[in-house]
Amino acid sequence: MPTLRANFHDLTREALRLLTVRWGFSPVHAARLWRYVYLDRIEAWELMTDLPVRYRDRAAAELALTHPEIAVETHSSDGFTRKYLLALADDRRIETVLMRFTGRVTACISSQAGCAMGCVFCATGQMGFTRHLSAGEIVAQALHVNRVLHSLNPGERLRNIVLMGMGEPLHNYDAVMTATEILCDTAGLSLGTKQITLSTVGVVPGIVRLADEGRPIHLAVSLHGATQEERAALVPVAKKWPLDALMEACRYYIAKQQRRIFYEWTLIEGKNDTAENAHAVGRLLHGQDAQVNLIPLNPTAGFAGIPTGQEAARRFQTILAEYNLPSTIRQRRGIDIAAGCGQLANAR
Ligand code: SF4
Repeated sequence: MPTLRANFHDLTREALRLLTVRWGFSPVHAARLWRYVYLDRIEAWELMTDLPVRYRDRAAAELALTHPEIAVETHSSDGFTRKYLLALADDRRIETVLMRFTGRVTACISSQAGCAMGCVFCATGQMGFTRHLSAGEIVAQALHVNRVLHSLNPGERLRNIVLMGMGEPLHNYDAVMTATEILCDTAGLSLGTKQITLSTVGVVPGIVRLADEGRPIHLAVSLHGATQEERAALVPVAKKWPLDALMEACRYYIAKQQRRIFYEWTLIEGKNDTAENAHAVGRLLHGQDAQVNLIPLNPTAGFAGIPTGQEAARRFQTILAEYNLPSTIRQRRGIDIAAGCGQLANAR
């Protein structure tokens, strides 16, 4: 019976070094192997000709250097967004999005297959939870995007990652943090830690842990409602971690990390986009080092809401400014291929 090989991409550079030493080889070989994969983009063992054959054979026998297959690829009509439905080794499907706007290349990657949080307006939430992704499966999405970029323009590489794809990253904390460590490794993809943004729907213990561990990644919190009742109607997990507890965790994070929080607010016509709603957000966040990202609702099959129009969104923004809260209105891109916020699902 063939032995089950570990996923190479699950390993940090230090873990690979320790494994190599355990096998009785020099750490120098581990460093070279790491460079082959993360800097030279070489994934075929036989092409790693600088490695001693015995080490290469041992690594190939123990470690799988595979990447997810592209099941479906779609491009937005404006040419800025590409969405990939990727098939994992067990044939679970996840989505990864490449956004290639002038001067800014960003990958939106998934942390879980499905999601357990059940936000009512979100296609991933509507499909339910299947399983957590491993660190390697998260890293593999970034590598996939990097390969695409390299094929489009050899000089171009991934500069920004948002963990805003399928899944709640703080529900899969350890794998996500290992993945960010691998992605930021200066001997590899070398993403600046400030180039990674993690979006949570409000998993309070995860926010506190993030603050305590001093992980220098940007934090975005999906708010959507400024009272407990309104928020819980859109984000069921608010019943477990109420608004008061969430705000306390956010203030703790800002104080401990000395870092701004980005609050995401999906604008739904007639539901949470009135002047009263805007004042409630202003009062709730007043005094925090915060920025509000306003995202007109993106359509999904399972939610009947309507996106707020531009004019009403701008009115909302003007009211936030009265509370000294900076805000942006997210441009709607990739909607024609269901690659916008809240639209990712594993449709074949
Ligand atoms: S918005 Fe995020 S946390 Fe909520 S259901 Fe969708 S993927 Fe999960």
